[in-house]
Amino acid sequence: MDVERITSAYEYARAAHEGQLRKDGSPYVTHCVAAAQIALEMGLDEDSIVASLLHDVIEDTSSGYDELSRLFGATVADLVEGVTKLTRVQYTSKEDEQMENMRKMLMAMTKDIRVILIKIADRLHNMRTMEYQTEEKQRTKSLETMEIYAPLAHRLGMQRAKWELEDLSLKYLDPEGYQEITDVLDTKMQVLEEFMHSVDSQIEARLSSDHINATVYSRIKHIYSIYRKMYAQKLDINGIFDLCAFRVIVDTIPDCYNVLGIIHDMFKPVPGRFKDYISTPKPNMYQSVHTTVIGSEGIPFEVQIRTWEMHRMAEYGIAAHWKYKMGNVPVKSGDEENYAWIRRLLESQQESDATDFFHNMKIDMFADEVFVFSPKGDVINLPAGATPIDFAYSIHSGVGNTMVGASVNGRIVTFDHVLQNGDIVEIRTSKNAPGPSRDWLTLAKSGSARTKIKQWFKKERREENIETGRAMFEAEAHSRNLSVTALTNEEMLPLLLKRVSFPTLDDLYAAIGYGGMTATRAVNRMNDELQRHQKSAEKKTVVDKVNEAAERRNQQEAHRRGKPVHGVLVEGLDNCLIKFSRCCTPVPGDDIVGYITRGQGVSIHRRDCENYLRHPHSMEEDGRWIPVSWADEIDDTYNTNITVVSTERQGLVLDVATILNALNSKVRSLNARDTGDGLSLVAVSLEVHSLSELQSIINRLSGIRGVSQVVRNGASQKDQQ
Ligand code: MN
Repeated sequence: MDVERITSAYEYARAAHEGQLRKDGSPYVTHCVAAAQIALEMGLDEDSIVASLLHDVIEDTSSGYDELSRLFGATVADLVEGVTKLTRVQYTSKEDEQMENMRKMLMAMTKDIRVILIKIADRLHNMRTMEYQTEEKQRTKSLETMEIYAPLAHRLGMQRAKWELEDLSLKYLDPEGYQEITDVLDTKMQVLEEFMHSVDSQIEARLSSDHINATVYSRIKHIYSIYRKMYAQKLDINGIFDLCAFRVIVDTIPDCYNVLGIIHDMFKPVPGRFKDYISTPKPNMYQSVHTTVIGSEGIPFEVQIRTWEMHRMAEYGIAAHWKYKMGNVPVKSGDEENYAWIRRLLESQQESDATDFFHNMKIDMFADEVFVFSPKGDVINLPAGATPIDFAYSIHSGVGNTMVGASVNGRIVTFDHVLQNGDIVEIRTSKNAPGPSRDWLTLAKSGSARTKIKQWFKKERREENIETGRAMFEAEAHSRNLSVTALTNEEMLPLLLKRVSFPTLDDLYAAIGYGGMTATRAVNRMNDELQRHQKSAEKKTVVDKVNEAAERRNQQEAHRRGKPVHGVLVEGLDNCLIKFSRCCTPVPGDDIVGYITRGQGVSIHRRDCENYLRHPHSMEEDGRWIPVSWADEIDDTYNTNITVVSTERQGLVLDVATILNALNSKVRSLNARDTGDGLSLVAVSLEVHSLSELQSIINRLSGIRGVSQVVRNGASQKDQQ
């Protein structure tokens, strides 16, 4: 150590704090010296000692970074600035989650781990002298120590500092509880000391006779650990037996296990209390073997067994590193082994190369995260690179959606400002805020902020989204030479929208507008669906036309009903009621015959009608069958039924309908059925003026692929051609 450099740092601190007093009336520089002393005990290096002496000069005096850097070097200036930053962090919160964020933030703010160590030394001295502070300050500082600094010390493996910080905090947080424990310990002290001395001697004697080089320590457990045990086990302090702890420190790891065997031989072990932290170190790299045994008086006590190296690590944790480095402590085995635990510690906390650490002593444990404060003092954890937009939406989507401005540490910033650890971020909102803009989606780093922004666009900007979406949809269609009219055709639309799963066209446009669906995808799917339906749609049009025409004619027929049917002459009877039979549906040109029905006039049949042929001719003699003939001039059309017989095939009905439509036939109905043995029968009911017209229709239909015959209904089979 360069004593001159340390002395000049002391002189600088004394001058800088000139006139400042501690609460106990002593000059302020005494605190600086005390902090440096603790840092020295921890085994920190020269830069750290110098920085400890200077740790309050930036915060409390007019000294600046540049001056410190010039006088004591950049490393010292960096350390002092780092401690100053931690000192400025306002501690306000209460919840566990907030505590963890707070600890992470302090770590994240600390690029050099020595900053935390100096800060712990500073805090330790402040806690030791806390009795001079106001009750209010005692409470807040103790709470902060208990929840932030003691856990940090623990995490860094610094048992000694951790215990002292915890006990001092407890003293101010629960003075009565603290007092109760110390009172009991005081009254029991003589007994406890006798007990400890007796056990110490027994163990020492036995180890010495077994030729094991060991040092035995005993101590009263620290107050906060007793306090916690009382709470956890709901016990009075008198119910807690193991107030003492023993420690055996040996040279080698095999000796640890030898001693363990000897202890278990001397005292009865308590089952389930043996813990081997040598083979499985704690996350902070603590190593020891623990066991609890029962002494001769029936009092249980814990024994911790460890090597000297493990002991130094347990006491000083990460700080022990500098002790080795400075060569103050003899290093027994190779450097590799001694530094292994630091490497493991670092590897367990970050991915980076551990050798880097030895050269730079830098840490960056939370590179992916940034911790900032709300004006109320809540710590908000955001992804690295986060902006005020992320911050606003992490508070509440309502805050984000009405944000009109942001300030960081009291200065107004733009929305793309990248937040730093420890920043205090304030968001200005307005009821008349226009809402988020689309470029916020790229400025926000957190997924949750982006989701909330998208939700806003989805909800609040429906009209705008519909317009945007429509424009995007149309542009996409145009770029591919597709007709927007066809894609949004009213008739087809329900089918096409079903394909993209939206109830209305506006819903689809809105989705495209806010980014829920791309225009390309929508146009693709709808166009596919359109193409798929187009052909069958064309076909349907023909059938539809045929059926529509049939429907029209049926209506005309209904209109005509009741009018006498002309065109048939019945010999010997004028103006008699004429009815065309349903069985054979004769048309002008057919050879016909009449049958006198009971009360329903004359029914007209074809002469080749099955019903006529089947009837015995006697009936004609009976006078019921009478000769009839067609009139010369016939304007009416006559309904007749035919059946198209074809081999079963797709599209048959369509072909029949297409021809009938082309011939402009008046079709009344068109029905198809499969016979089940490979044939299809298409029954057509139509109106014709004459047999010749019917014949030409039959001829045309007979030419359809697969059609074997076209027959008129009701005709006797033998008369069919
Ligand atoms: Mn201080």
